[in-house]
Amino acid sequence: MHTTESAFPHLFRPLDLGFITIRNRVLMGSMHTGLEEERGGFRRMAAYYALRAEGGAGLIVTGGVAPNRSGWVAPFSLRLAAASQIDGHQLITEAVHHQGGAICMQILHAGRYGYHPLCVAPSKLKAPINRFAPRVLSRRGIRKTIDDFIRCAVLAHQAGYDGVEVMGSEGYLINEFIVAKTNRRSDEWGGSFANRIRLPVAIVEGIRDKVGERFIIIYRLSMLDLVDNGSSWEEVIELAAAIEKAGATLINTGIGWHEARVPTIATIVPRAAFTWVTRRLMGEVGIPLITSNRINTPDVAEEVLATGAADMVSLARPFLADPLWVQKAEDNRADEINTCIACNQACLDHIFTRKTASCLVNPRACHETIRPFARAGRSKRIAVVGGGPAGLSCAVTAAARGHRVTLFEAAGEVGGQFLLARAIPGKEEFAETLRYFRVQLARHEVAVRLSRQVTVGDVREYDEIVIATGVRPRPVAIEGADLPHVHGYAEVISGRAAVGRRVAIIGAGGIGFDTAAYLLEGGSTTTGIDAFLNAWGIDRQYRQPGGLKKPVRPEPRREIHILQRRSGKPGEGLGKTTGWIHRSLLKKNGVKFWSGVEYRRIDGQGLWIHHGGEEQLIAVDTVVICAGQVSERGLAEEIAAAGRSCHVIGGALEAVELDAERAILQGMELADRL
Ligand code: NAP
Ligand code: SF4
Repeated sequence: MHTTESAFPHLFRPLDLGFITIRNRVLMGSMHTGLEEERGGFRRMAAYYALRAEGGAGLIVTGGVAPNRSGWVAPFSLRLAAASQIDGHQLITEAVHHQGGAICMQILHAGRYGYHPLCVAPSKLKAPINRFAPRVLSRRGIRKTIDDFIRCAVLAHQAGYDGVEVMGSEGYLINEFIVAKTNRRSDEWGGSFANRIRLPVAIVEGIRDKVGERFIIIYRLSMLDLVDNGSSWEEVIELAAAIEKAGATLINTGIGWHEARVPTIATIVPRAAFTWVTRRLMGEVGIPLITSNRINTPDVAEEVLATGAADMVSLARPFLADPLWVQKAEDNRADEINTCIACNQACLDHIFTRKTASCLVNPRACHETIRPFARAGRSKRIAVVGGGPAGLSCAVTAAARGHRVTLFEAAGEVGGQFLLARAIPGKEEFAETLRYFRVQLARHEVAVRLSRQVTVGDVREYDEIVIATGVRPRPVAIEGADLPHVHGYAEVISGRAAVGRRVAIIGAGGIGFDTAAYLLEGGSTTTGIDAFLNAWGIDRQYRQPGGLKKPVRPEPRREIHILQRRSGKPGEGLGKTTGWIHRSLLKKNGVKFWSGVEYRRIDGQGLWIHHGGEEQLIAVDTVVICAGQVSERGLAEEIAAAGRSCHVIGGALEAVELDAERAILQGMELADRL
């Protein structure tokens, strides 16, 4: 395994735990996939985890499994509480072991975050992100909960897992006991810190006692709560020492409670922005520490390990994006990695809307058995017109299947809307997706024809024609929209338009928000880790319990107004788990939101609207149009008129609510059928 030429020597150093050796320093972190609750889900999970084991993950941790009903994250979440429930888990452990991997099962008790009426907590305090108030656990209930954790671990052992991860962070039950803010008890489970950590210590001790020494116990410890009156740093150290003494094998890092109003994993979070927290704990305990959050490339992971910030790195979403992440890094093919861009769109956002998770850049994730890759029976000549997300996805998939593909692109480079997206502050990761596609185009010998306005004659001779010509901005019917200080978003984001200090943005969808963020650049957006920590009030010095401080933001560079005609909250259609970040960022920068407006005209003074029963002027220097898009389907219509058939995908097919997730999925699904 370990090669001296490796570009990532620290990443590929095995970790000897005494009774088991982990083949490298990469942990696949716990993620709920939605398969846990699906009929036939175990079979699909077995295929999903086995592929990641085959791809080289050192140690895998499953999504959370409740030790009892009150610990469910949502009604009927996966629970392991009886011997009759271990069969499905055995499918997973056998499949992973068959690939030479190792896997731990996470035990998660949701506490007051449980989205159901049976949820429990140390005290009767409802979580701000839950509508269900918890029932208070009695002393007997606490002892029963500890027994349930232990029984769950014993059953995991019997099911063949190499260990368990005890979820002690993110504001779930154990974390609620540890922190005085949520634990107001006056019995032996509350009050002093020693009392408040009695629960996790008893759980880890109890598990170790029952499962023996040759079983991994990872404890996920909340090292930075990011809520007021969370744990102090001294308490974090004390807890870590107590957990080590109780018998844990490894300590993993938890950052931020779910109710924290600070982004911890979204794209806006710089890579490895929280590894300094784990580094603070290095040397305080004897067992290895795992660090986490926004580690998505082998370079970053290697640097984290090389600089001694942790003994192991945890990557979760990057394993959705590319199951072969480790193998590619090990073979020095890091440029072939499909990098997680931290968008949350197809993973967390799906989970929160009760859909099976997948991945925007890799739609096969969690769908290994129902969207399998297969080589084509007969190699065809395929023309793909349009090098945006849909066209790229279709071209590389078809070529990987063995077809001979030509990709035509009107612009001087491929990328389409991704070229704009990567210019948005906090969305720079889109550049990685473009790099991935470019490498795949070359690897699968796709013939790329740039700067080509394609005619019917160019594609007539191909066996299959795919139209992925994308979208163009929707024109608006507002008087004055043709004035020189009115620009489209593409001109603005590509830096071609001169934009003044006072700006009105017409349209409050994803692109309106992105344009506002772009225009605030330099005034407020974050570039390195310290700028991010300062802007969101995260204290590297850890002076307050919980690790928060007063945010420090530079003065906004521009005065921005963002408008929509409909009533209701602007940005409502933004991502479920990231929309609040975009809204919050703009609000913190003084952006003024307008809903329920009627546009009257644009003139030299600015934008005239009708709002609140009167005509008003929004005095601005520049107006930017972000009013959505319409399909670019001219070529598809010409081809149809010429009597040829073609496939239309992505924005060219349907512009409404188009996003990269749908485009990439459609491109891949079509290529799988060709
Ligand atoms: P969009 O989400 O459809 O928003 C278009 C905006 O323009 C709306 O606020 C709409 O509000 C307004 N509008 C529509 N027709 C108009 C007209 N004739 N005159 C004036 N205003 C008009 O489109 P988008 O912002 O261009 O985004 C396109 C797609 O990209 C979306 O599906 C989005 O999901 C995706 N995207 C997502 C993100 C993200 O952060 N997740 C970022 C960028 C893009 P009113 O009709 O109420 O005025
Ligand atoms: Fe990463 Fe986005 Fe894929 Fe989730 S959907 S794994 S955040 S690239």
